Amino acid sequence: MYFPSFTSEKPFATLRTVMEKEQIETFKQKLEEEVKLLKGELQSVGRINPSNPDDWEATPGKLDILEADRNEAADRIESYEGNTAILKELEVRYNNIKSALKKIEDGTYGNCEIGGKPIEEDRLEANPSARTCKAHLGELED
Ligand SMILES: [Zn+2]
Repeated sequence: MYFPSFTSEKPFATLRTVMEKEQIETFKQKLEEEVKLLKGELQSVGRINPSNPDDWEATPGKLDILEADRNEAADRIESYEGNTAILKELEVRYNNIKSALKKIEDGTYGNCEIGGKPIEEDRLEANPSARTCKAHLGELED
């Protein structure tokens, strides 16, 4: 854990160049949990494309939806088209998280994909799979 020191010569909110290992581990856990959740959601509206394991395709609405979700789900999952729209959104999130996990492995996690500078910590807290810093917010899908 990072304990800011008041006797440090660095400013309080210093720009980090290398993220603390433990901090990365925390983000990694969050990302892995989210991958699991998203995978479940993806499987409720689609399936992995048999000819491309990185691609998901929408399936027609299922009937085995849990009772509690049925009303909401009935509104959202009326048709294949509805599933396609939901799936596309989930797939973007899923792929971003997968790529964030890959960046952790590669040691490039936490850097803006446009400017290359470290992404603000509060932005990563809110969205651990963020691909850009605040200055480049909205320039990439995340
Ligand atoms: Zn940036």
